[in-house]
Amino acid sequence: MKAAVVNRAGASAQVEELPVPEPGPGQVLLRVETCGLCHTDIHAMNGDWPVAATFPLIPGHEAVGIVEGHGAGVTEPRMGRRVAVPWLGRACGRCRYCVDGRENLCVGQANTGFSLPGGYAEYLVADARFVVAVPDGVHPVDAAPLTCAGVTTYAAVKNARVRPDETVAIFGVGGLGHLAVQYARLVGAKVIAVDVTEDKLELAEDLGADHVVNAATGDPVAAIGRLGGADVAIVLAVAPEVTRQAFDALNRGGRLVLVALPAAGEFTLPVFQTVLKGISIIGSIVGTRQDLAEVFDLHAAGRTRVIAEERDLEGVNDAVQEVLTGRVPARLVFAHHTADLLPRQASPSSR
Ligand code: ZN
Ligand code: ZN
Repeated sequence: MKAAVVNRAGASAQVEELPVPEPGPGQVLLRVETCGLCHTDIHAMNGDWPVAATFPLIPGHEAVGIVEGHGAGVTEPRMGRRVAVPWLGRACGRCRYCVDGRENLCVGQANTGFSLPGGYAEYLVADARFVVAVPDGVHPVDAAPLTCAGVTTYAAVKNARVRPDETVAIFGVGGLGHLAVQYARLVGAKVIAVDVTEDKLELAEDLGADHVVNAATGDPVAAIGRLGGADVAIVLAVAPEVTRQAFDALNRGGRLVLVALPAAGEFTLPVFQTVLKGISIIGSIVGTRQDLAEVFDLHAAGRTRVIAEERDLEGVNDAVQEVLTGRVPARLVFAHHTADLLPRQASPSSR
């Protein structure tokens, strides 16, 4: 099989020919159809974070594929089913977080495309218990971005307990932001999208943002203030100044939701305003299997649109550059084994 392999932190990916992996006990073998390129993959390849990936690394945690093999003891999901393999490749199932429904916080978790092999490959083995079924109405090119960008922003909106008629400011309209706009709308909020690129702001409007703010041409805090301020600010951009802008844009009782993981990962906030305004600071990391099932269900029901472009795995390093320079409309998806599928336009929710 073809796979993109990164041999050490900071090295570029090399497309290599590797043997198709064997599913071990409790695992399924997938013929990978699609895998999205998430910014986290780039951080993992570069070794940007305090926790390092396992090298050599096959990145990719937005993998979607067809079950083609069962390891010992596995009967579900059945052969031929389409499933997604998210960042949460495996959780322990026994710690307090797993038991109380917060498996995304599991202390014993293993992560796809980080400590486990990922989906930048034609085949992938995954823990059968942690793959999530993709409904028939969801095209694999749409399913890939939903597997991380979708579930992450969906869970961020849930964790912020957004109420109808609140205002949500979304900082960063990319792979995550274009979906965050839609989830915030789905719970009834008014949405202000903030970005530094006019194209992305147009996309946000197209997807239902009530207002857009260009942070490159003016002060986003003042602009959001003129719109009545934000009750919830979701930070999806990695630029260091954005966290403070998001904080300053909040109304009393506001919630600052941190999702993006910048390489320079520290910020300072004023205690005085945080206390007097009753601000909550929330860290939100991906979501659970149930969250992802809900994300797929909403998409199958035609409630969301995924903006994604397909790329070939051979062009993996060019695709990374496209993401880094911000030339990508929303998400890039590596697609293989999709030639025999219906065109994506046939999917009810893609336009
Ligand atoms: Zn991701
Ligand atoms: Zn656990």
